[in-house]
Amino acid sequence: MRKPKLRELGEAIRAIFRGPFTSKFPLKPSPAAKRFRGKIEFNFDKCILCGACVEVCPANARAQIDDKIRRIRKEIHYQERCVYCGQCVAYCTTKEGIYHTQEYDLAQIKKEGYENAIEKELILCERCGEVITTRAHLLWIARRAGELAYANPNLFLILSQELGEEAIPRMPSPSPYRSEHLRFLCPSCRRTVYLQEIWGY
Ligand code: SF4
Ligand code: SF4
Repeated sequence: MRKPKLRELGEAIRAIFRGPFTSKFPLKPSPAAKRFRGKIEFNFDKCILCGACVEVCPANARAQIDDKIRRIRKEIHYQERCVYCGQCVAYCTTKEGIYHTQEYDLAQIKKEGYENAIEKELILCERCGEVITTRAHLLWIARRAGELAYANPNLFLILSQELGEEAIPRMPSPSPYRSEHLRFLCPSCRRTVYLQEIWGY
């Protein structure tokens, strides 16, 4: 019979005093490692619902739904599809919109309750009604742009509203430039308004 190696013998003796190495989970909670990629939570104040995390998700575990009637964008994280790769957290535009918790005990027998979602106000084009983006997203861009934000009508308007300015009244005018320049416009409508100003169509 081979003699036990010294290291293994040492471990066996230590285990007599320290107890078994294995944890008693699920009878007792067993905390995850510090850098464990567990359940993902939204940081409501920091998520601007820009959709970058939806684009990089390899498992189709994130989605955005725009409700033009209610003017609401909803972002959903489907935890049952998530492979916890961390791409969405790594590529979050604001770097703080979502984060991994250390929670890993996510098994359940019901189908419901795997969704984790937040909602924020949408800004729509005032001419055609198309979605521009969320108010939070525009504000985030405007704050990063600093004084340059005042060169962009959408950003200028969002900053004005943040300061408590009322909507700019629409003046009756034959020229679309005069009446529609300072509006929330999608790129297509802004181009139309500017072309009307320059070329008259
Ligand atoms: S701010 Fe971050 S978490 Fe929120 S939608 Fe954009 S990329 Fe996703
Ligand atoms: S951790 Fe990976 S799979 Fe899960 S939502 Fe984020 S990007 Fe998608």
